[in-house]
Amino acid sequence: MVKIFMAEGYCVKCKAKKEIANGVEETMKNGRKAIKGKCPTCGTVMFKILGKAGAGEAKVEAKPTTTTANSPATG
Ligand SMILES: [Zn+2]
Repeated sequence: MVKIFMAEGYCVKCKAKKEIANGVEETMKNGRKAIKGKCPTCGTVMFKILGKAGAGEAKVEAKPTTTTANSPATG
């Protein structure tokens, strides 16, 4: 039995908010969960990312730190 999720998404074809039909939970590569389904009106695939609530995306980039000075460890 597939779990059906009720979620609202934006259909780019209808250019309106629609209730995602047959929405199923999917885990993306980055580990985030999303709901994938179809528009009940036109059948266009809709995708809703279950990220943080609110507008705006925060990009976090980890920079590789290079250590030039190395102190010898005394044991
Ligand atoms: Zn649509």
